[in-house]
Amino acid sequence: CGIVGILGKGAVAPQIVDALKRLEYRGYDSAGVATLEKGALARRRAPGKLRALEDKLAKEPLTGHAGIGHTRWATHGGPSEANAHPHATERVAVVHNGIIENYKELREELADHGVVFSSDTDTETIVHLVTAELDAGKSPQDAVPAVLAKLRGAFALAFLFKGEEDLMIAARRGSPLAVGYGDGEMYVGSDAIALAPFTDKITYLEDGDCAILTHTGVSIRDCDGNGSKVARVTQKSTV
Ligand code: GLU
Repeated sequence: CGIVGILGKGAVAPQIVDALKRLEYRGYDSAGVATLEKGALARRRAPGKLRALEDKLAKEPLTGHAGIGHTRWATHGGPSEANAHPHATERVAVVHNGIIENYKELREELADHGVVFSSDTDTETIVHLVTAELDAGKSPQDAVPAVLAKLRGAFALAFLFKGEEDLMIAARRGSPLAVGYGDGEMYVGSDAIALAPFTDKITYLEDGDCAILTHTGVSIRDCDGNGSKVARVTQKSTV
């Protein structure tokens, strides 16, 4: 029910957990974080309170400088560690708020191609679809829009890619998502409240937008249309 993503200069997992705490008011049943550890995706996830995730991170810290985090309000699949986000393959990790309405068809199609699922969520279909596009040779910037075109339903998404320390891709259709600007750091979050400890310089994405972030900025595109660049206002948040 909440999303946070950070391309940072130091270890981002503690910052991500702090930002997720600011989204607790939305309600949640489990939480998780994924970071790039020397280029490889690593995850910590836990059902229950954020405290459980913090305990896990204390025992097995994540030190990566790029990361995504999630608080989940289960819609498809019960509140378990396996169903908690981020969902991931070796190549890509995703956090998702919302519902993928056509996930059953997508899941069957993927299963026919030999994909084995490790959760009961609608969300997991997204990582396997993106992985297939990457395996076919597409760049992350092309793989994500190709997959968004196959999804029905409502979503806010943030993606992290293996070996891509300077890249995060976010997208929204029906669920809120904001981009935050820092000093050599960039953020995404469900709302400005989540990002308030880091920045008050915010751009709200609109439906159909996808955002390609690096440490130094963002390029926002119309991913439900022709993929062209779109201009969105940057505002000073007062939360
Ligand atoms: N539909 C997804 C799930 O059940 C996302 C739920 C959410 O918005 O937190 O895992």
